[in-house]
Amino acid sequence: MSALLQICGLSAGYGRADVLNGIELTVAEGGVTTLLGPNGAGKTTTLRAISGLVRRTGSIRFQGVAIETLATEDIARLGIAHVPEGRGTFQRMSVFENLQLGAMPRRDMPKIRADIERVYGYFPILKQRYTQAAGLLSGGEQQMLAVARALMLRPKLILLDEPSFGLAPLVVRELFAILSRVRRDEKVAMLIVEQNARLALELADDAYLLETGRIVLSGKSQDVAQNERVRSAYLGA
Ligand code: ATP
Repeated sequence: MSALLQICGLSAGYGRADVLNGIELTVAEGGVTTLLGPNGAGKTTTLRAISGLVRRTGSIRFQGVAIETLATEDIARLGIAHVPEGRGTFQRMSVFENLQLGAMPRRDMPKIRADIERVYGYFPILKQRYTQAAGLLSGGEQQMLAVARALMLRPKLILLDEPSFGLAPLVVRELFAILSRVRRDEKVAMLIVEQNARLALELADDAYLLETGRIVLSGKSQDVAQNERVRSAYLGA
């Protein structure tokens, strides 16, 4: 499969300090890639760098287009949706309004209603709660809303930052099962940062291990899952 996202020599950081030091990473068209690593390694910063939310240097190509100098809105408009840590839903707005906002960068307004119904198909609970304020949803429902909102962009790539964070194990399983369906049915690629390495490696085709701002291991998920260091540090084996 060809590369949808290709990152070469990416450095990024806050203020004067670099958190990422020349990372290389690829996400295949329609593929799922996971980025693993300890706290503070720079995983969130990598997603922010792709979305244009932090200072960065190096090359980031999306569908062959250089995006490393583009503004966040233009990156979204090209088809990269970002589900940030902490979900980023608008707490006082209803489920329905949050979904409408997800479609904001799009220009094909008439199709948006149909797409809301389409995402309800993945997340029926959101249809039941569509008038409710996002802030009143459970943690799992809020995470589902965050993913549903990202889908409203009709993205080619979704960046997911710790989707399982703070959720009960059963809810996490349900969420990952839905992500797997979304990936299959929407042919959307995903780059997932996740503490639950086992689940992430199950869903992903490719995996990268980031430590203190550098990629120290990469490969097919099943191979990375066999790596001794990954097994002992991330899989509790
Ligand atoms: P975690 O799992 O803890 O979120 P992470 O791998 O996602 O870890 P990042 O959140 O990317 O790591 O953080 C990498 C480094 O950048 C850390 O040292 C962190 O303190 C620092 N950092 C993160 N956000 C900011 C910020 N807004 N300003 C300054 N430094 C930051």
